[in-house]
Amino acid sequence: MTTKAHTTNFIKNRIDADVAAGKNGGQVVTRFPPEPNGYLHIGHAKSICLNFTTAVDYSGVCHLRMDDTNPLNEKDEYIDAIQRDVQWLGFEWGKHVYFASDYYQQLYDIAVHLIKEGKAFVCSLSADQMRETRGTLTEPGTPSPDRDRSVEDNLDFFARMRADEFEEGQYILRAKIDMAAPNMNLRDPALYRIRKVSHHRTGDAWCIYPMYDYAHALSDAIEGITHSLCTLEFQDHRPLYDWIVEHSGLSAKPQQIEFSRLNLNYTITSKRKLKQLVDSGAVSGWNDPRMPTISGVRRRGYPAKAIRSFCEHIGVSKQDSIIDFSILENHVRDVLNVEALRRMAVLDPIKVIITNYPEDETNTLSVPNHPQDEIQGRRDLTFSRELYIDREDFSDDPPPKYMRLTPEKEVRLMNAYAIKVVEVIKDADGQVQTLHCTYDADTLGGQKPKDGRKIKGVIHWVSAYDAVDAEVRVYERLFNVENPASLDDFMEGLNPDALRVISHAKVEPAVASADAGQAFQFNRIGYFCTDSEEHQADKPVFNRIVSLKEGW
Ligand code: ATP
Ligand code: MG
Repeated sequence: MTTKAHTTNFIKNRIDADVAAGKNGGQVVTRFPPEPNGYLHIGHAKSICLNFTTAVDYSGVCHLRMDDTNPLNEKDEYIDAIQRDVQWLGFEWGKHVYFASDYYQQLYDIAVHLIKEGKAFVCSLSADQMRETRGTLTEPGTPSPDRDRSVEDNLDFFARMRADEFEEGQYILRAKIDMAAPNMNLRDPALYRIRKVSHHRTGDAWCIYPMYDYAHALSDAIEGITHSLCTLEFQDHRPLYDWIVEHSGLSAKPQQIEFSRLNLNYTITSKRKLKQLVDSGAVSGWNDPRMPTISGVRRRGYPAKAIRSFCEHIGVSKQDSIIDFSILENHVRDVLNVEALRRMAVLDPIKVIITNYPEDETNTLSVPNHPQDEIQGRRDLTFSRELYIDREDFSDDPPPKYMRLTPEKEVRLMNAYAIKVVEVIKDADGQVQTLHCTYDADTLGGQKPKDGRKIKGVIHWVSAYDAVDAEVRVYERLFNVENPASLDDFMEGLNPDALRVISHAKVEPAVASADAGQAFQFNRIGYFCTDSEEHQADKPVFNRIVSLKEGW
């Protein structure tokens, strides 16, 4: 039974046909196979969403498989981060978490089987010699001098490779396919190489490690994956994938289907390059809120739901394209606009003294948390004689159509009263320091003034009585060039202004006391969240998630 909750695409059309034909008994099993050599990024989110939602749509399962066959760069820290990120995105693998390294013995046994079948041989060519004898797109390769070694000798050499009798690079196990194949991947590709390094899970049990193409195809077959969805660069590897599965002796026949990678402008989606940013100190870590990693955008405050809807929206195809970063930001806004509670914060405060309000008095205003959604409840705000407003909400030399406070023009304080200026106090540099104002007690919460005068502007404010000092981190794009990957050195494209720290913002108490990692709309300013690492109620730290509208 298919229950298609999500939109259709060319992959689902293929699966529909397979299910209808009764292939794999109508079952659908997909997998997400990251290599634990770094943190997941927004590109991986596309693959995660695709694999997990496809499984759900066909009442199947999606495996999480660590493709840990290259021990050099892999770490347990990355495994933990990958699991956390996939879960945070909202997907469950249940008991189906696997490690390619758990198959090492089986992969070895299959290699022995291939040797016995005359489908693999031990080769003494160096990596350079292999490259030189591979031929070109127009010329066939030259067979290895070891290609016709006897099965007995191959078995003996391979056993000795495994027994640590040789040096790295001295021997390699190769498939015996076709040195004249038009597809270069079929020209006797390497299956196993000697690597004298410890593996983070198998320790020193192995000194030979399987190549990616070999381990990946067989892991799929071992797990009974029915549809192996991968990115387009593996299209030319598919004939090798099929060859390996076919000759493995395993019964499963997974179908590899390729789709285009997610590329975003102003962004890098390569673990290797992202690691370079981390290692060089250009960012504070993998979860720096400027990073396009899943952990980075989580700390930045992007809701998981927005990433899922973005991935759903961009869909899958075989066409390579670059997606505009603002599309992702719009999904973030759409979710936050509905879900984020409204709060007031003043980023660049100037003091306002309400001269006709008693000095030792305050009053409590009950205001909605969300203007369109009563279910989100209300909170109390304190109104007092001294307040803060944002510097840019006052001007004594206003441009045309300025709708905020001026010496001539009254404004409403959001959720509170109308005020008008009686005196502007400046410092020696001519900077406004304090505004003396009066308020109209009859205008609370948007009530019309008794004398019928019109008040148009509305500005936000916080009470000096209970406002909390806060640090606000305003983020811009990490790169200021559209395609940083195209630069000789992508680090040259880093945006030096990607982080601006505002250290003396004032926020209302209800937001200072929020738990870490909570998102809010600061009225009229943008969406912000409490930083998951550094926020404290008495020392609040906020990250700007995204501006209110495109182009801040
Ligand atoms: P990177 O180049 O960042 O290391 P990778 O493809 O080598 O990426 P893997 O850990 O092997 O990283 O990726 C796991 C899965 O995620 C693969 O199936 C891969 O095709 C997919 N994937 C990686 N990057 C993207 C992307 N930008 N868009 C869609 N899928 C991706
Ligand atoms: Mg990879």
